[in-house]
Amino acid sequence: RRVWQTAPDAFDAAVVDSLRELTAAATARLADVSPEEVLQAVFGYPEFRPGQREIIDMVLAGRDCVGVMPTGAGKSATFQIPARILGGTTLVVSPLIALMKDQVDALAAVGVRAAFLNSSLEPEERAEVVARLRSGEIELVYAAPEGLQASVAYELDRVDLRLIAVDEAHCISQWGHDFRPAYRALAGLKARFPRVPVLALTATATPHVVSDIVEQLAMASPRIYRGSFFRPNLHVHAYKKGRKGDPTRKVPPIREAILRLVRAREGASGIVYCLSRRSVESTAKYLQEQGVRAVAYHAGMEADARTRAQDAFRDDDADVVVATIAFGMGIDKSNVRYVIHRDMPRSIEGYYQEIGRAGRDGLDSDCVLFYSWAEVKAYDVFADAAPEDVGERFRAQAREMFRMADDVTCRHQALAAYFGEDMDPCGTSCDVCARADVLLAAAAAAPRKRKRSRAAIAVDARD
Ligand code: ADP
Ligand code: ZN
Repeated sequence: RRVWQTAPDAFDAAVVDSLRELTAAATARLADVSPEEVLQAVFGYPEFRPGQREIIDMVLAGRDCVGVMPTGAGKSATFQIPARILGGTTLVVSPLIALMKDQVDALAAVGVRAAFLNSSLEPEERAEVVARLRSGEIELVYAAPEGLQASVAYELDRVDLRLIAVDEAHCISQWGHDFRPAYRALAGLKARFPRVPVLALTATATPHVVSDIVEQLAMASPRIYRGSFFRPNLHVHAYKKGRKGDPTRKVPPIREAILRLVRAREGASGIVYCLSRRSVESTAKYLQEQGVRAVAYHAGMEADARTRAQDAFRDDDADVVVATIAFGMGIDKSNVRYVIHRDMPRSIEGYYQEIGRAGRDGLDSDCVLFYSWAEVKAYDVFADAAPEDVGERFRAQAREMFRMADDVTCRHQALAAYFGEDMDPCGTSCDVCARADVLLAAAAAAPRKRKRSRAAIAVDARD
């Protein structure tokens, strides 16, 4: 290290890498258990999922690492297991204060000593967590990025920090779909803790966003692990809206199309995404009038009402949640059978994230996109209001999304390519490959499945 400090040019990157690994291996006071043992004994799973072991090995070797894996792939285990093995304390930066308590409770239930430090804590609770941290008892401490500038930073200097995990790391990048300015506070972490490896995790990162993450976090020659983005159980369909949309297929007016899809899946859980709060309200109302157990969700609603809607959906008291994109992050519902986009999402990354909420249990699920150029124009209005460089990007992202929706190639292949992954056409999981028309199928299914009540017929007639 001393030589390197005075003559860094004498070492090439590969040598620095291997020296770093050697140092880490020589100095780590590793607990005497293997990752497999922790996976089984603590989490109760017989084997690793693809990618988990690879990332854990890099982290244990002391390497900085970026893990890009789709939602549900099991990213949390890639820092939770090293936390146990490395000893000391692992810091987990996570954007969602609302979720930290659930995560910590779930860990406590399996005997992991975890805690969170954020603005929701009462002073006494906070003092208790701080005392536990200082005593070295806490294996995993969750904090929001905002906190790292404040008192949490002070405490971190007093603990034996062994790993920093940054969840939802794409939030640090302006190029991502979910930029959060507070994440910029993480830029100084590596300088403050130069010896602590950083693991950045995200479910959506284009190659561009990955390099931005690496740069922003000042990661040292990180390893990058990319999981596959192909989820064959998601059956992806797209329809152009409007009469002149697609002459080969009959697309009914949008709300009837949605109703038809929902009815053909009666009793199953689904999400209907809309662009505006107004269309959330009107679509939810229409579905309710047609006897569908639907609730609305958007950021303009009172906090109580939002929680009620979310709980109703989680507990299967409502089948359908009609929502803006305010709904989703942190929804951990495994049996969502369909995601319908009433309007085109603003970027491919956003789209992938939203359809990813379907079929987490691995069972077949439908993702139906309705899109039109009108949405591109609507996003241009947002773009006009944004700073110039951001606005440019918004415009470009909406056009990329439109082009992808409008293109007649395998949809999974196009999505994977967007995230830098090569794959053959899916064969059976998209409308293009399977030559499937999910609206037509729904039209055939609905009357047979649904026992029409008198009331429903009356409503139809009035319509
Ligand atoms: P992500 O953060 O990638 O979206 P999570 O870490 O929340 O995913 O994991 C998704 C689900 O998979 C969780 O319920 C988790 O307990 C489970 N899981 C993680 N690893 C494994 C494994 N090796 N075998 C079985 N289930 C796993
Ligand atoms: Zn396909």
